[in-house]
Amino acid sequence: MTIEATSFATHEDLLSAVEPAVGGREIKDPATGEVVGRAPEHTVADVEAAIASARAAQPGWGALSHAERSGFLNKAADAIEANAEALAVLLSREQGKPLNGPNARFEVGACAAWLRATASFEIEPEVLFDDEGGRAELHHRPLGVVGAIGPWNWPMMIGIWQLAPALRMGNTVVMKPSEYTPLSVLGLVHVLNTVLPEGILHAVSGGRDVGEALAGHPEVDKVMFTGSTATGKAIIRSSADTVKRLTLELGGNDAGIVLPDADPKAIAEGLFWGAFINTGQTCAALKRLYVHEDIYEETVTALAAVAAAMPMGVGLDENNVLGPLQNRAQYQIVADLVQAAKESGARIVTGGNPDESQPGFFYPTTLVADVDNENPLVAEEQFGPALPIVKYSTIDEAVEMANALEVGLGASVWSSNRDAAREVAARIEAGTVWINKHGAVDPRMPFGGAKQSGYGLEFGVEGLKHLAQPQIINY
Ligand code: NAD
Repeated sequence: MTIEATSFATHEDLLSAVEPAVGGREIKDPATGEVVGRAPEHTVADVEAAIASARAAQPGWGALSHAERSGFLNKAADAIEANAEALAVLLSREQGKPLNGPNARFEVGACAAWLRATASFEIEPEVLFDDEGGRAELHHRPLGVVGAIGPWNWPMMIGIWQLAPALRMGNTVVMKPSEYTPLSVLGLVHVLNTVLPEGILHAVSGGRDVGEALAGHPEVDKVMFTGSTATGKAIIRSSADTVKRLTLELGGNDAGIVLPDADPKAIAEGLFWGAFINTGQTCAALKRLYVHEDIYEETVTALAAVAAAMPMGVGLDENNVLGPLQNRAQYQIVADLVQAAKESGARIVTGGNPDESQPGFFYPTTLVADVDNENPLVAEEQFGPALPIVKYSTIDEAVEMANALEVGLGASVWSSNRDAAREVAARIEAGTVWINKHGAVDPRMPFGGAKQSGYGLEFGVEGLKHLAQPQIINY
C-alpha cells in the first residue's frame, strides 16, 4: 500500500505530512531565524526498524525487471514535478537558498531530471567471451540494503543522487539526511513514497548517533556518503567489521586556472557562478582561483562587476539569487577565514564586511585578491561566498599550486584555446576538470573525487555499477 495523497498545495501541507504529531526538533530558517517546522527525532531503534523493513522489501523489488523499476523512477519524477513548488519553498526556507537562480527551483527540477536519466540508462549483462572454450557473462546483481547519508547544502539533489541508482539496481534504501536540513529530505521522500512500492525507501531523521547506527549496521550492505572528509574517514573505519561497500563523495577545494589567453569579460559570469553557486556552499564549487599576471587585474575587475549585480537576501524574495550560509558554524568558518586573510595583508576587493545587526547568517559576496597560496582562505575549504584570487606567472607554477592540496574533487581551466586548456587539464589531480565552466555535473557523466575527496563514482552507467554486486557466470 502506498500513501494516498499525491499532491500538496503548499509547503505547509507537505510539512504537516512529515512533522511528528507532538514534539520534534525545531528547524529554523537561516535567513530569518523563524521556525520552519519540526523534525522527528528518530532513535537507533527507529533506524533498526527501517533497515528491517527495507531488508524485507528488497527481494520483491530486486526481482522486478529493469524496465519495471525504471517505470517507478519515472513515476517518482512525475510526483516531484506535481509537487515542485511545495518542495522548492520548503527547501528554500530550510536551507536558505533562494527560489530563483541556480537554487531551490533548479534543485527540485534537477531531482526529477536525475530520476528520469537514471531510469533511461541501459545496463545489460556483458558477454566477456563466447568461444569453443566456453562462455563468461558479467551480471550486476542487487547488493541489498543501501544506507544513504547526506549533507545540508544540496539536500534533495544529493539524496536523489544516492537513492535513484540504488533503487534502479534493485536495492532498497534507508536515508539519513543532515540534522540541519532533515525536513527537505523527509518531504521529498514522502512525495516519492506516494508512488513507490511500500518499504523500499525510508528516511530517518537524527544526528550523528543515527548516522553511525546506519553506517555500522551489519544488515546494511553499502553506504553512500556525501559530506566532510572527516566524517568519511569515520565511516571507512566503521565499515571494516562487515567489509561494507562504500561510495564516498567528500570535501573539495577546487582550483580554477585562468590561462593568459582568456578573455576576462567573457568568462567572468562563468567564473562567478562556478564559485558562488548556492552561495559557495557546493562541494564542487570553484574555491581557489589562479589567474595569470597579464590579465589578473582585468579578471578581478570583471568578477567584481558581476558580483555587484547579484542580489543576496531572503530566499522567498523572487529577486534574490544568493542566500545566507545555512548555519551559524559555517558562517563563522567563512568570517574567520576572511578576517585572517585581511590581517595577513590580502586585498578585499568587495565584501568582507558582514552586517551583524541583521538577522540571518548572511555573509556578503567577497572577493579577496593578492593572497598567498598558503593562506588558510586558499588552503582550507571555505564552503561559502568568499573567493581567494591568486596571481601566477607560469603554467607550471599554477599547476603545482592547484595540485598542492590533499583533496581533488573538481577543477577548471579557462582559456580561448581549447587544446591548450586540455593539456593543462590533463595535469590536474582532480576527478573532473571542466573547461570554461565549473561544477557542471550531468547525470550521464560519472562523478567522483581524486585523493582525499573520496572514492567510487556516481551518475551514468558507471554509477549504476557502483550500486551492484558484479557476478560472473562461467560455463
Ligand atoms: P558532515 O560530514 O558534517 O555531515 C554529513 C552527514 O554525516 C550528516 O548527515 C551527519 O549527521 C552524518 N554524520 C556525522 N558523523 C557521522 C558518523 N560518524 N557516521 C555516520 N554519519 C555521520 O558534512 P556537512 O557539513 O553536512 O557537509 C559539508 C561537507 O560535505 C563539505 O566538506 C563538502 O565539501 C562536502 N560535500 C561533498 C560533496 C561531494 O559530492 N563530494 C557534496 C556536498 C558536500
